[in-house]
Amino acid sequence: MRAQPKASHFVNGDYVEDTAGAAIEVVYPATGEMIAVLHEATPAVIEAALSGAAAAQKAWGATRPVERARILRRAVDLIRARNEELSVLETLDTGKPVQETTVADWPSGADALEYFAGLAPTVTGETVPLGGDFVYTIREPLGVCVGIGAWNYPSQIACWKAAPALSLGNAMIFKPSEVTPLGALKLAEILVEAGLPAGLFNVVQGRGTVGGALVTDRRVAKVSLTGSVPTGRKVYAAAAEGIRHVTMELGGKSPLIVFDDADVESAIGAAMLGNFYSTGQICSNGTRVFVQKGIKERFLSRLAERTAAIRLGEPLDPETQLGPLVSEAQLQKVLGYMQIAKAEGARLICGGDRAALNTGFYVQPTAFADVTDDMTLAREEVFGPVMAILDFENEEEVITRANDTEFGLAAGVFTADLARGHRVVAQLQAGTCWINAYNLTPVEGPFGGVKSSGVGRENSRAAVEHYTQVKSVYVGMGPVDAPY
Ligand code: NAD
Repeated sequence: MRAQPKASHFVNGDYVEDTAGAAIEVVYPATGEMIAVLHEATPAVIEAALSGAAAAQKAWGATRPVERARILRRAVDLIRARNEELSVLETLDTGKPVQETTVADWPSGADALEYFAGLAPTVTGETVPLGGDFVYTIREPLGVCVGIGAWNYPSQIACWKAAPALSLGNAMIFKPSEVTPLGALKLAEILVEAGLPAGLFNVVQGRGTVGGALVTDRRVAKVSLTGSVPTGRKVYAAAAEGIRHVTMELGGKSPLIVFDDADVESAIGAAMLGNFYSTGQICSNGTRVFVQKGIKERFLSRLAERTAAIRLGEPLDPETQLGPLVSEAQLQKVLGYMQIAKAEGARLICGGDRAALNTGFYVQPTAFADVTDDMTLAREEVFGPVMAILDFENEEEVITRANDTEFGLAAGVFTADLARGHRVVAQLQAGTCWINAYNLTPVEGPFGGVKSSGVGRENSRAAVEHYTQVKSVYVGMGPVDAPY
């Protein structure tokens, strides 16, 4: 049990255990070894988390923003100082290579805390003059927010939700994915060490039923979910019952369009990052790579060459570039999609099977060409290192086809013609777009989806809208003029 935390939950300032909850076994995806056993939150743990959060939020909401910010800034310093050990834990929890976790996961979480610590004290209302009388507005916290995480970026997701919530005066109860429950506990521990009052960031473990119990509690004002579209539908509907605020960060099947005037090596690099980084387990991945016919064969041969050089292996080895998938279930799902792609007639360019390692949930980085719009590989989210390459002739056609999906999370365009880049992006139905780049999500920019990929935005100033509400105050300056 090399990653066993002190206890399963972190509630009201300390670790809490209740072994009556069903077991959650945490497995290191590179070996299949069990590294921790946690327990689902029982009704008693859930109640303690909710009542503690509701009580603590009252004083926190009334705390001066710079004081809240100071605490979050201290947490940022602690995270950065401990980046290495936190990243190793993240690697054990997810199987992602330390080469990634040390630069992408906690570092991005720290950026979010730093950004919102800086931003929160600048959030003010406005005064609306009415020629004597006036209206002023107050941006108030929402109250108790629930965060529910996916397993692909567990610690980053916890930070991305905690940072705007806490900096703007809310409390948060966070339920990590049952597949990767460890990182969020560390965040809770660090926030308390940094001076966050008890109860403001509680972590409870569990599967969907624990999430459901949190979402429907009358004390909860807002729910922010990162997960799949089917889960999003359920959580959104449950939150609607109580007219709660929601942020939904859901799945995608994003297009990455490569025009024949593009810098092909950069486009291939972006397509590889946007399909193989984190073993392909990224919501915004460009999993439909549309390549214009003139450069197709060059694109495919260089892609195969560069993919063959990717180093698969033990994620704790700093030289490893590609780790395993997160779980046995995910492995089976991804292998299933590879079989379907072959059966439906896609042309295998590289990979296409399990990787020849003795243990763990490894698959080969895989690319299929000649994928057509109706193939399963072009329609469903695989969440593994499986790139689908589609051909196209012209701009108008590719825009129509890129938009022909229920998803709308992200999109990318590679072209030397910047006017075309902007023109195409303007017509793509996606919440987050890149021109001559892919999958970069700095905290300064809004992130989120349209259509079935979600509602609301994380990061940036846009998140302020989703963690506060506006109170409008009319001030009468003279006598009341009544007709009766
Ligand atoms: P999932 O939908 O299976 O689970 C997400 C979370 O929801 C988990 O914590 C789970 O326990 C919880 N949950 C499940 N049912 C619930 C219910 N009825 N009520 C409340 N909570 C419930 O997703 P996953 O497999 O953990 O993650 C992969 C998915 O997440 C992919 O579809 C991916 O695209 C998406 N994702 C989206 C983003 C984004 O920002 N848009 C980021 C990462 C992952």
